[in-house]
Amino acid sequence: MTKRVHNFNPGPAALPLEVLQQAQAELLDYKGTGMSVMEISHRSKDFEAIVAEAQADLRDLLKIPANYKILFLQGGASLHFAMIPMNFRPAGASADYIVTGTWSKKAFKESQKLGTARAAANLEAENFNRLPAQSELKLDPQAAYLHFTSNETIHGVEYFAEPVPPDGVPLICDTSSDFISRPIDVSKYAMLYAGAQKNAGPAGAVVCIIRDDMLEKVPANLPTLLNYKALAEENSLLNTPPCWSIYIVGLVLKWAKSIGGLEAIYQRNQTKASMVYKVIDESGGFYKGHAKTDRSVMNVTFRLPSEALEEQFVAEAKKRDLIGLKGHRSVGGMRASLYNAVTVESTEELVKFMKEFQAKNG
Ligand SMILES: *Cc1c(COP(=O)(O)O)cnc(C)c1O
Repeated sequence: MTKRVHNFNPGPAALPLEVLQQAQAELLDYKGTGMSVMEISHRSKDFEAIVAEAQADLRDLLKIPANYKILFLQGGASLHFAMIPMNFRPAGASADYIVTGTWSKKAFKESQKLGTARAAANLEAENFNRLPAQSELKLDPQAAYLHFTSNETIHGVEYFAEPVPPDGVPLICDTSSDFISRPIDVSKYAMLYAGAQKNAGPAGAVVCIIRDDMLEKVPANLPTLLNYKALAEENSLLNTPPCWSIYIVGLVLKWAKSIGGLEAIYQRNQTKASMVYKVIDESGGFYKGHAKTDRSVMNVTFRLPSEALEEQFVAEAKKRDLIGLKGHRSVGGMRASLYNAVTVESTEELVKFMKEFQAKNG
């Protein structure tokens, strides 16, 4: 028997077992080619079909309107922190950022390096333990765009309703860690982007969903590989794309459809998150959630009474094959990442362990 653990890693993270098994079955001979997907040309009919099917499945799953392009790019979400201002903020213009955690802060800083960016809100003084209300946002009606991060992977706060930009200001979202975790209304966005390795596949691919009119704003003098318009015109095949990652993302999208689509997935995700939050809330303060409100369905962040107990928690969890629970050093404590591929059964094991650990050490 192959050993599989209960994987709560923040990213790269758990993938559906069915997807790994299919990749394994097709590894040596992909659809009668006698080659693996890693060995076929990105210009071949077989690979073109992989891209086309992944795009069609994603369009179906997220109900993406026809006037949006779907691209599979590289550089991690982090490269797009720089590409977004390069492509969509004209010389002399300013862009707005809602700073709600480590990732939106990084996006904001990268944007400031390249030109003018303002923080429409910055929750750092409260250690990013909640999201700003719409009324707290100081929005620039002339902004080139408004950027936000729908789920802060490290702090564990998540937007369930989009911030509303001023009329005519495009809304851009880093959705790396809650991508395809629930239904959203894509028509509210000018662009969504997500590194695949949290919820959609292996590292190496970044999924970008860009409304057509945005591509008309792209300056012609950008390096070709940093130019969204040029990348869209070649349908992500301007140069060799991350073929294997795109293939696995395609399998994950088919899996997501096969288990009932985003409504069913969201229900399951809510079930898992509320199981863990319930233990935290009923622990009488033994477990303390980091997020006060806007608690993430994807990344549950919490502390224990002491760092010594936190270390002990991680070590004992590991003995029970509960893996990846140590929080990011900037927040401390624990983080349970409950992405789509994490099962209810794994979450039950975690919850059981948390209760036992408190009974012994509380
Ligand atoms: C992980 C993460 C990133 C960075 O992704 P890379 O692919 O490592 O560049 C950006 N934003 C969010 C929300 C993330 O969770």
